[in-house]
Amino acid sequence: MQLHNLKDDSQKVSFVEAVKTGLGRNQGVFFPESLAPLADVDSLLDMDFVTRSSKILSHLIGDELPADTVAQMVQNAFNFPVKLVEVEDNIYCLELFHGPTLAFKDFGGRFMAECLAQFSQGEKTTILTATSGDTGAAVAHAFYNKPNIDVVILYPKGKISLAQQKLFTTLGNNIHCYAVDGSFDDCQAMVKNAFLDDEVKSRLGLNSANSINISRLVAQVCYYFEAIAQLPKEQRAKAHISIPSGNFGNVCAAMIGAVIGLPVAKLSATTNQNDTVPRFILDKNWAPNATIESLSNAMDVSKPNNWPRVQTMLDNKWFSYDDFYSTSVDENDTQAVMKKIHQTGYVAEPHTAIAYQGLKANLATDSTGIFLATAHPAKFKESVEEILNIELEMPKPLADALAKPCLAEDIADDYDILREILLAKLG
Ligand SMILES: *Cc1c(COP(=O)(O)O)cnc(C)c1O
Repeated sequence: MQLHNLKDDSQKVSFVEAVKTGLGRNQGVFFPESLAPLADVDSLLDMDFVTRSSKILSHLIGDELPADTVAQMVQNAFNFPVKLVEVEDNIYCLELFHGPTLAFKDFGGRFMAECLAQFSQGEKTTILTATSGDTGAAVAHAFYNKPNIDVVILYPKGKISLAQQKLFTTLGNNIHCYAVDGSFDDCQAMVKNAFLDDEVKSRLGLNSANSINISRLVAQVCYYFEAIAQLPKEQRAKAHISIPSGNFGNVCAAMIGAVIGLPVAKLSATTNQNDTVPRFILDKNWAPNATIESLSNAMDVSKPNNWPRVQTMLDNKWFSYDDFYSTSVDENDTQAVMKKIHQTGYVAEPHTAIAYQGLKANLATDSTGIFLATAHPAKFKESVEEILNIELEMPKPLADALAKPCLAEDIADDYDILREILLAKLG
């Protein structure tokens, strides 16, 4: 896979280099220069999830990695199911929360861990990542106790749910957590600063694990094929998929899927009140506002890092602007929609409810709709129980984590302080 930096076309890298580097020069993200279509999509759709995913990833990555290596990595990473549940006539929910940390980020986090274990054998590596809630847990679990790898996680203090937080701050050992006095965008800015800091970068062997990393995106392409594979054949090409979006990595993966041959008609990237992209789609003016806190906190992002990748595919006409929808759902509607879905007998947490609403707002009458359930409702226990007036059962991994003490340290929104801590502890 040949990639280039979207901010500096002269920087070209292989897949392995892109995974190890994370972010390119001038804070540009790497993206494939071209995306070749898959040969026989129909027969791919007949395969089981792991076999098909190995083929898709080998196709995307190319000859840099032997097919049997990729197959082994996929088998290790994707060891939990994807479920497509019909919620209403012709409306399906794609449940991506059956992994160890109960959110879709397990797919990307676990595949990335496989990649780094493969590419950085023996070298000291520090994974530095900012999390708006669920990346932290997925990455922490994927790398927990892996030799020669330390993980540093920054999260906005008090702005993520207790369940989200406990799933990574209770691990200890090689997992180091910092609660930043700021927003997710502030955390993300600190991570970007660290990557621009050559001394920190080399002394720590720095690597990023947020959705900037291309290995996470390619892994996420796979479950869109699984979603379509689980649909009745005649509904496939007319499907409209709605993705609750924050950093726009997940919709980027869906679009990559569509470009290489996923039979899907339309994509919706639905946001909460942090609506930079929906406003950009209307007036082509990039004007991020201050980040607003919401019930769907994993999407409290006003400067989505993956948007340049999505925009590149749209501007190149690899995917049509006409088939791409981006609307936003406010807090009142989020709650109202959670209640409405609950009346059908299904329990959706806030991110999932936003995906449902984005689908309903844009779905053509003859289409099949799929909305993504990106997290298990128990991960948002407080808000789900209060809004729906129900009591949720805690899945075991969550109950275990909630019982343990938080090991995170508080830190100011100040890169120089983070720098000192990192060099002293891990340099
Ligand atoms: C991360 C996350 C999102 C947003 O995904 P992006 O790839 O950042 O757009 C949506 N829902 C949940 C539960 C998440 O954890």
